[in-house]
Amino acid sequence: MAHATLSHSVILSSSRFSRLGYASKFLRNTNPFPVRLTGESFRCCCSSATTDETSPSARRKRVVSGVQPTGSIHLGNYLGAIKNWVALQDTYETLFFIVDLHAITLPYDTKELRKATRDTAALYLACGVDVSKASVFVQSHVRAHVDLMWLLSSSTPIGWLQKMTQFKEKSRKEGGENAAVALLTYPVLMSADILLYQADCVPVGEDQKQHLELARDLAQRVNNIYGGRKWKKLGGRGGSIFKIPEPLIPQAGARVMSLTDGLSKMSKSAPSDQSRINLLDSKDLIADKIKRCKTDSFAGLEFDNAERPECNNLLSVYQIVSGKTKEEVSEECKDMSWGTFKPLLADALIEHLSPIQVRYQEITAETGYLDKVLSEGADRATEIADATVHNLKQAMGFYPRNSAS
Ligand code: ATP
Ligand code: MG
Repeated sequence: MAHATLSHSVILSSSRFSRLGYASKFLRNTNPFPVRLTGESFRCCCSSATTDETSPSARRKRVVSGVQPTGSIHLGNYLGAIKNWVALQDTYETLFFIVDLHAITLPYDTKELRKATRDTAALYLACGVDVSKASVFVQSHVRAHVDLMWLLSSSTPIGWLQKMTQFKEKSRKEGGENAAVALLTYPVLMSADILLYQADCVPVGEDQKQHLELARDLAQRVNNIYGGRKWKKLGGRGGSIFKIPEPLIPQAGARVMSLTDGLSKMSKSAPSDQSRINLLDSKDLIADKIKRCKTDSFAGLEFDNAERPECNNLLSVYQIVSGKTKEEVSEECKDMSWGTFKPLLADALIEHLSPIQVRYQEITAETGYLDKVLSEGADRATEIADATVHNLKQAMGFYPRNSAS
């Protein structure tokens, strides 16, 4: 019954959404990049093809993902996440959100949060996310994220959270016991983000694999504790409350490393801006950052030499932004010096990012456009998310608001 409600709301909202004809002028020629087929660019761990044959409506498999508005979107976010979303939106039903609730787990500037949220949304669209295909919204605009997080918290062993690598690293930097509780419970919110939408697949960079594993364990645990016959006895559908999500890992560009240290990942929160290429960096700044980035003193350039992490990283970035194969790049660059390669890489980056920057300017210049997109996206997401929270509350035995009469 409840499952039918969920499927029903998906169908309803899909048709309502398509009736809006909501592809703005920005989105008609929005994607300048060749869309690679799923099997070519991703290691997809989902069990079958792209439709969920177990669903009565045989819906397309659903993918969810998001980026924190903690600073400027950089090349790692783009190559490791957003660029891949664009390739997914034709094949999967997609929901992409700006995870602003996650952005407050570390001390942050309240004056910056709004702007970073808006910029992040605009960059999703500028990078090719098409709102006639994908739902784009701000996480905090859908209340069910926090509701589900609290419900899941009661089934999450503290030990699971304490052993998360990101918690250990970030809490150490925050001075141990002074770190906010939210840093510890971050993976529960991330689990809620995924499980709310009954996601089949979640595109994640290597850094988020551990959190996705936790989301899977938590889904299984809650299904075992509250699902099945116990849920049925409480008037529910029975069976699983949550779908178990699978990771979707891009074959190339999964982990873009810092420009100043080839062993650390490129990150928004790294103190030095020199360590990353932000998508909105000017041409001159990109050229300057590449000119000054860390290299080595080996002769020639090569992939996959463990002693040359910077070299592998820069060649990988060049490979993706130039659209060439690894073999082509190996051949082209094997005898190059850094002095020859760096301008080549800078030009390829500038050429790749320029159209994104132009579209970003257009999108942010149109008054009200982005707010309308985000509002429609939140409406669509709320329909799906509320159905999941309804199911879990029913299975957990909560007294429903409307059954008093
Ligand atoms: P922060 O430093 O605030 O954690 P971040 O740069 O790690 O920021 P997130 O918002 O945590 O970015 O991650 C958003 C998405 O980008 C995730 O899917 C994550 O896997 C991906 N991502 C982040 N950094 C990289 C990177 N260096 N290479 C590839 N993917 C990345
Ligand atoms: Mg991160």
